[in-house]
This record gives sequence, C-alpha cells and structure tokens, in this order.
Amino acid sequence: MRTPLIVGNWKMYKTVDEAVHYVKDLCNLVKNINDVNVVIAPTFIALHATAKAVRNNKVKIAAQDLYWKAEGAFTGEISGALIHACGTQYVIIGHSERRAMFAETDTHVRKKVTAALTHSLTPIVCIGETLDQRESGKTFDILDHQIATNLADIKTEQLAQLVIAYEPVWAIGTGKNATPMQAAEAHSHIRSHLASTFGKEAAVQCHIIYGGSVKPKNIQELIAQPDVDGALVGGASLEVQAFFEIISRSRKATV
Ligand code: PEP
Repeated sequence: MRTPLIVGNWKMYKTVDEAVHYVKDLCNLVKNINDVNVVIAPTFIALHATAKAVRNNKVKIAAQDLYWKAEGAFTGEISGALIHACGTQYVIIGHSERRAMFAETDTHVRKKVTAALTHSLTPIVCIGETLDQRESGKTFDILDHQIATNLADIKTEQLAQLVIAYEPVWAIGTGKNATPMQAAEAHSHIRSHLASTFGKEAAVQCHIIYGGSVKPKNIQELIAQPDVDGALVGGASLEVQAFFEIISRSRKATV
C-alpha cells in the first residue's frame, strides 16, 4: 500500500524566520497523523534551518531544484550533495515553471534525477501537458515522452525511490484543477507506462501524486482516485491551516 504523500511547494515565498515558524506549527498540527507523509519545499536559503527545525518529526524537507554536478565552479548552483548534507530528503525536479521560465529540458531533468538518487534524495519528477497539448489530444503522447526521457537512466529497483508528480500545466496556479476523472485517467496512464517499462511490481510501488490548484475543498475527490497517491500543493500550502486541512483530508481510509 502506498501511504499518501502531500508536498507543499513554497516557490519563492517566505523568509527563513517565517519558514521555521511555519514548519514548527505544522509539526505540531500533524503529530497525530500517521497515515500521511508530509513534505515542505522551502527556498534554498531556508533548507538548513527548516531541516533542523523538523528533525525527529514526521515533516520532511524538499529542495525545489538541484544541479547535477556534485561540486565545482558553477556559480549560483546547488548540488544534490550540498542539499543532502543540510538534512533534506526530497527534491522537486522539472517543475513546469523551471521548464517554461528557465529553459529546463528533458535532458536536464534526466541528469538531475540521477544526481538526486546518487545523493540519497528522493526525486519528485514533475510531468504534465499544456492546455494546447491537451486540447489537441496529445496528453498521453506528452506524458509518454516525458516519462521515457526523464527516467531514461532509471533502473527497475530505483523506481520505488522516486515520486512522479502529474501536474497539468494549465492547472498550476490558475485555480482550475483537473477533474478527478481527468486526474484518474492520467495517473492510470502513467502507471501503465511505468509497468510496461519497469514491470508491474515496480510500477505499483511508485508514488504518483497530483498537482494543480489543489485546495482543501477538492483534495478528497482527487485522493479518492485509485492511482492518485497524494498531492503537490503550491498556493494552498502557504497558509499552515489550509495545508493541514489538505493533509487531514488525504487519509485514504477516511474518504
Ligand atoms: C505547484 O506549484 O506545483 C502547484 C501545483 O501550484 P498550485 O497548487 O498553486 O496550482
């Protein structure tokens, strides 16, 4: 059974003090929730302080990106080794904002996935179609292409160590979430693709989470879909009470 995973992506919001204050509140709120895993992705500068603040708690920390080299003369970049050394366990890779605004390609994503695993970080690999691609009936082709290229270097035994985030680009930050049916269809397609590449046994172990305007009011219907194993939450993770509501409503057994 895949324990639901809820990840808050804070993008470029919150000072270090605000971040630490929030994660301490969150640890307190979720201390009795044992059937949902919770991750927060603050900015790079807050990774160390938040990881320290959540130590020995159930909340884990993610970076929002990494560079694939372990170290070197790469001004402005942060490696998986550095991220891991400050107590971080997850890393978001290939978010659509990075692909669209920072020219991140499928090849970059592939290298970053390998680097994350090398440094004992769980990659949260974001894939998803644009509105144009959906409207022209290309959603599954796009997903197939992204899985094939982004996971090209992954071995079967590594699949259980990574998370795929299905994030339709048209649903991110727009207030327009995919319907539970659209999410179910895409997630089931992704799992079938994984099964055909890595085998069914490996595919059932991989978490596939949904992202795109997840809110307390729509999480229950989304998480109720059999292949939806959690959520990547942007805007609604910025306020601790709203994020806690999402976490509480993600318990599969209570849906
Ligand atoms: C995201 O940043 O990955 C995201 C899904 O954002 P939002 O929840 O605001 O749509």
